[in-house]
Amino acid sequence: MNIEVLFFLNSLQVAERELEEKYREGRKSGVLFFPYNQLPAVRVADKEITVSHKDIFTEGSPGSWTCDFLVVDEKAAPGWEVDWPTRMFNAPSDREGFFSSSNPTALPAESGRKGVFVVGNSRANSSTEESLAEASAAAAGVSVLLAKPEIEAETHATVDPQKCALCLTCVRVCPHSAIDYGEYPEHKRSAARIFDAACIGCGICVGECPARAIELTTPAPEEKPAKTLVLCCKRSAQQARETLAAHKWTVPKDVCFVEVPCAGRVDTGLILKAFETGHERVLVLGCHEDACKSIYGNTAAQRRVDYLKKNLPAIGIAADRLEMRRLAASQVERLAAVQPA
Ligand code: SF4
Ligand code: SF4
Repeated sequence: MNIEVLFFLNSLQVAERELEEKYREGRKSGVLFFPYNQLPAVRVADKEITVSHKDIFTEGSPGSWTCDFLVVDEKAAPGWEVDWPTRMFNAPSDREGFFSSSNPTALPAESGRKGVFVVGNSRANSSTEESLAEASAAAAGVSVLLAKPEIEAETHATVDPQKCALCLTCVRVCPHSAIDYGEYPEHKRSAARIFDAACIGCGICVGECPARAIELTTPAPEEKPAKTLVLCCKRSAQQARETLAAHKWTVPKDVCFVEVPCAGRVDTGLILKAFETGHERVLVLGCHEDACKSIYGNTAAQRRVDYLKKNLPAIGIAADRLEMRRLAASQVERLAAVQPA
């Protein structure tokens, strides 16, 4: 039978056993796969189906295919059962409304909130085998938590209730649902409250709080500032730095590397302080998009860097003195490429 099969997909990730082999078999037998950024246009006229698609690699004019059959993937949506636990456990959900665990740095069963695990169809369309494997991972995660008599909080942010304007910005931006608000009887007022055990100390809230009411460890300024200050996310650039250090890497002269808990901790105040201290150039190194342990700490940092780059010239600082780059912990060559200004 002479059949031509075309696949249009916006992502060619295969995340299930044996799918990679099936994909290769399909390629070998002549199936064509077209990734897209823009959904292909479908036209049905006179019983004829036409699909127009713009190639993401050539970015040329759209190609058109007339087909006998068109099969459209069903959109998976979470059931009502996902809604109430999302609210009850304050666990973040993703764009589709599933429990959020699409972060590649997290284990499949971990939700965005510490101590809340999600398995099976509550986090994505899953097979029974996948759901069972995730349930075992969740059980292992719970047993790790219960093995200790008390849950030890990581370095976490703290709120100064006297400064808090109760604007709730921090409640909205915390990707780990670690903040709400309540009464501080000793101060006789309400203010934002951080759940120490749920906070992972990313610092996103510190950078977003308009009242500067949230504190987290701030990198100490240097006495004699190097020309270039490199702010390294603890979970990517800092790990690359440690790998290089283990291989006796010679740190470039006049470059100072400072660890931050997440690129999301880097706020405009921190960058301006660095220029004020005497650094000629500030480089922020964060994780790749969609690979941030704090879900969108890297995006928050990029937004602040972009904002500052637009506005620095107004205060006499050239925009090219500030830059943000992305790298994974394994991309040591990107870190090694950093040179002084
Ligand atoms: S963002 Fe700052 S001022 Fe607003 S509620 Fe949170 S701590 Fe208070
Ligand atoms: S430091 Fe990060 S995890 Fe902790 S409360 Fe702030 S935004 Fe949430």
